[in-house]
Amino acid sequence: MMVILFSACNRADEPPGADNRPGPGDELLLDGEDTAVATHIHIWSEADCREPAICAVCGATEGSPLGHIWISANFQEPRICSVCFETDGSPLPPGFEVHGYAINAASDSYYPHITVTYENPSLITTGQASFYDFSVFESDEDLAAVDGYEWQKLRLRVTYDDDNAWRYGAWTIYSWFDYYQFDPSAPVGKLYNELPDARIPGVDLPGLRVGGDPVNFYGIDYEYYLSAEWIRNEWVGRTLYQVVELVFLVPAGYDGLVVAFFNYSNLDSDSGGLTKADYYDEDSLFFRLKQ
Ligand SMILES: [Zn+2]
Ligand SMILES: [Zn+2]
Repeated sequence: MMVILFSACNRADEPPGADNRPGPGDELLLDGEDTAVATHIHIWSEADCREPAICAVCGATEGSPLGHIWISANFQEPRICSVCFETDGSPLPPGFEVHGYAINAASDSYYPHITVTYENPSLITTGQASFYDFSVFESDEDLAAVDGYEWQKLRLRVTYDDDNAWRYGAWTIYSWFDYYQFDPSAPVGKLYNELPDARIPGVDLPGLRVGGDPVNFYGIDYEYYLSAEWIRNEWVGRTLYQVVELVFLVPAGYDGLVVAFFNYSNLDSDSGGLTKADYYDEDSLFFRLKQ
């Protein structure tokens, strides 16, 4: 604010201000934006994602907000600004859900497993399948800790006791895949025996193999690993018992692996060009390794 002193001649005969001119000894206070701008040095804040530079004294602004610098969403997080960490939207939708599939098996329950007999693939047999003994741990007496990873263990069991199985045996087939990057139009993955051996320092688990295409966790691709072993395959009376033990090594906290049972006859279309959509149908069982 600026104060201007006027010294004018005596105009006592007129009331002060009558002609809008200041009288003797009047102090005139000039106020307003122009005056204010002229009288201080702006103290600018730094512009940020949302706000331009702002003067702390008068509130004037200069320039534009810088705008967020977004890092793309991934399957675990929405997109996030690398400067202010504001988030926007949702994580990427999991492929398994996008394509209309649903997890339909929980641990320690039995579900009908529809497949075909071993000797006559035109005959159906229905077993009882279960996913059980699911556990997640960093290490145990057999399996060493691996930096950044955890072990996920699961057993699959199927029993068959119908006449068709008794006469002709049963084809049991299971698979595993990634919940988040599942694409039914993709070619089916390799068989377990075709996967490359895993070489992980400090881990001695015969049969541990690279599990398939990498999984994506918080936007980063990681290899994961798998060991699969039939630990039971025998008849007791007229009942066939089959048990497989699966041991996965995945990034710590990862919850996207799915294990499935499906009908062996679904393999029976054109060999070579099979996709995951050929494997799975409404009778398939899906269990997600998620705590
Ligand atoms: Zn200012
Ligand atoms: Zn920001």
